[in-house]
Amino acid sequence: GIGYINGKYIGLNENAVPIEERGCQFGDGIYEVIRVYNGKPFMLDEHLARLLKSGNAIKLQIKQSMEEFRMLIKEAIAKSGLSNCCVYLQITRGISARNHLFPDVPVSISMTVKQIIPLPDSIREKGAAAIFHEDERWANCYIKSLNLLPNVLARQTAYEQGCFEAILVREGMVTEGTSSNVFIVKQGKVYTTPLSRNILAGITRMVVKRVSEVVNVQFIEQAFSKEDLVGADEVFITNTTSEIVPIVKVEGKKIGTGAPGEVTMKLYHKLQQFVADLKEM
Ligand code: PLP
Repeated sequence: GIGYINGKYIGLNENAVPIEERGCQFGDGIYEVIRVYNGKPFMLDEHLARLLKSGNAIKLQIKQSMEEFRMLIKEAIAKSGLSNCCVYLQITRGISARNHLFPDVPVSISMTVKQIIPLPDSIREKGAAAIFHEDERWANCYIKSLNLLPNVLARQTAYEQGCFEAILVREGMVTEGTSSNVFIVKQGKVYTTPLSRNILAGITRMVVKRVSEVVNVQFIEQAFSKEDLVGADEVFITNTTSEIVPIVKVEGKKIGTGAPGEVTMKLYHKLQQFVADLKEM
């Protein structure tokens, strides 16, 4: 893998960030994670649109255009020599003496391109377990902000209980996972939390919506409770790096038959086909 910061390519273990960097001191920045299949960044324009939306939402003065980011990302992928990898792109409010007020300095742009660590086959075949966790985050979760402390704490809690993900709950309703969107299947129909300020508009969520149309599965954006989830036929989560992961146990209770669901796997296989077609293009 390789690193990049403010115009310079570096090794992943090289020191690069000055001590007074707003990303480090305030978490004052945003990011994107983009999956690369066979050298091609998947859903790149959608990721860049979300990046600029996050940037606007926190009033970042980004001078670079979408096209410049597109070129930069493609250049970094080429330089990495990797074909199945992940790009992590981060923009912070820059380098300046610590002060809450916005500094008059350029934003810092950094990036890593790293080999993908594949999800163990056993998780996809047998499904994963999850816990419920109170959604303790702020009121603007649609922004892909660097402030991930509540996500980190919830995810660690899940891990310590032998679980793969923490499903976040706000006032009894499921919002999303710590780094995923959440879906339930009931009588063959897919339900997911509607977009609002409370969740991130996942790019994989968008892909699943498209895939559902292709395979004629009804896709319904409707809020659901913890109880709805526990009583669902199937549950799955999505994100860029893991794609679709079946959830077969929540809070120790089996979901459906306790095995990855039929609709979940149909969507997963169709998504794989989408990606395979992309590789041939
Ligand atoms: N929700 C949160 C809080 C996330 O951090 C992520 C991604 O890591 C997602 C949802 C899924 O988004 P995407 O499909 O764009 O990776």
